[in-house]
Amino acid sequence: MSMHPKPIGPVPEDTARVARAAFPKGTTYIQMRDALGAIYEDEDFSELFEVRGRPAIAPWRLALVTLMQFSEGLSDRQAAEAVRARIDWKYALGLQLTDPGFDFSVLSEFRSRLVEGGKEELLLEKLLEVCKERGYLKVRGRQRTDSTHVLGALRVLSQLEQTAETMRAALNALAAADLDWLREHADPKWFERYARRIEDQRLPKGKEARKEYLQTVGADGARLLAQLDDPHTPRILKTLGEVEILRQLWEQRYVQSPEGELRARDPKERPEAAYCIESPYETEVRYATKRGMSWIGYKVHLTESCDEGLPHLITNVHTTAATATDVKQLCAIQEGLAKSGLLPAEQLADAAYVCGSNLVSSHACRIDLIGPTYEDRQWQAKRGEGFDVANFSIDWEKKAVTCPQGRKSIRWSETKTARGRSMIHIDFSPNDCAACPSRPSCTRAKNLPRTLTLQPKEEHEAIQFARERQKREDFAALYSRRAGIEGTISQGVRAFVLYVKLATGA
Ligand code: SF4
Repeated sequence: MSMHPKPIGPVPEDTARVARAAFPKGTTYIQMRDALGAIYEDEDFSELFEVRGRPAIAPWRLALVTLMQFSEGLSDRQAAEAVRARIDWKYALGLQLTDPGFDFSVLSEFRSRLVEGGKEELLLEKLLEVCKERGYLKVRGRQRTDSTHVLGALRVLSQLEQTAETMRAALNALAAADLDWLREHADPKWFERYARRIEDQRLPKGKEARKEYLQTVGADGARLLAQLDDPHTPRILKTLGEVEILRQLWEQRYVQSPEGELRARDPKERPEAAYCIESPYETEVRYATKRGMSWIGYKVHLTESCDEGLPHLITNVHTTAATATDVKQLCAIQEGLAKSGLLPAEQLADAAYVCGSNLVSSHACRIDLIGPTYEDRQWQAKRGEGFDVANFSIDWEKKAVTCPQGRKSIRWSETKTARGRSMIHIDFSPNDCAACPSRPSCTRAKNLPRTLTLQPKEEHEAIQFARERQKREDFAALYSRRAGIEGTISQGVRAFVLYVKLATGA
């Protein structure tokens, strides 16, 4: 399919006249066309179309229809019908009143082109660009970020059902790829055991019977995998995605003894939730819990502008596995904002995003990350009368620390934690601490001197600065502006089904 870019003209006269008469105050789409123009141009999508072939429907219109369709939650058929029948849609799309529109199938074709061409973010980026040009979005302004859970578009299955359904999915894929091979290698009982979806079958009742069923499914899967590992098995069957999922799931759910006996793993023996496959049909979903709520799916991080006197616009959408922590996502969010030329001067986020390294990396991008910093949990800081880390003077150049009693540290060791974070351990002299009159305010360790653990210089100083700032009276008013993002998330969930990630990737 080819595309020949054409200049976008004004809204046809008849369409504009009828639209104005029917909607004197305008509608969302009439106002959108008036305020933002056509938003997209055909050239924006030129990489996605051939130079020759049947001419495509103007991609700028399909992009607008896609936005309008998702804003109203319309199916492709309903959106195509709206293009044909609704005056405000014709106005936004610059169509004549007599225009018959297009077949609904072009919308899914257009989305497929966007996804295959890696241009799915183009729709948001161009919209933001136009908003920026027209002054609705301030460069280096204030933005706020928060996350919410997103359910995978799948039926939640028990562990038993997941295992058997994964075997079924692999058998179906093998049948489609090479039915003769499957007929030759499959156990005849498998056709009966895995013919119907597992959740539609009557699974055995009782703990022992279910355990036996899980063992049977495990043995079936192990046997199938052994047959696939045979050097004579066609390579195409070995590399099927469903076979790879079966292999991974069996490694996660079963273990083989040195004698060759297969047994189901105890839940405690399974890998972390971040690696556990939850469905053979949507392999990226993960099981997660947060504040007593559990879900299988993803997490989405929304960032929106919140400058006074300007509309609040979503500037970045970042989707991760449900198990990914918020604190690890801030850099990726800021990279996305930098790519769109939308880095803020101030970014408001809750405590889940604030840590020393994020404060430092934000500072490097000239962003003031504003959010509550984790508190010093040492008893000295909690009581408010002991010597916490802020009471010690640190000479980073000389790698020496002086305590409130004026004693110098005797050791400065730089180490890495199990997770690879750099830390610095400080030791004071046992003799100094043993004879110290302030010892009760400094350490409770019997017969041991005071020790400190510091983060690297930039992170330490950033945390200290943030802790001091959050004690100030004006901090609460500054941070209170973050709360508005929860309204945006709520609107996304209630009005735009944000909580379900559709299998199409929408
Ligand atoms: S206990 Fe040791 S480190 Fe603490 S104030 Fe006394 S001398 Fe300094």
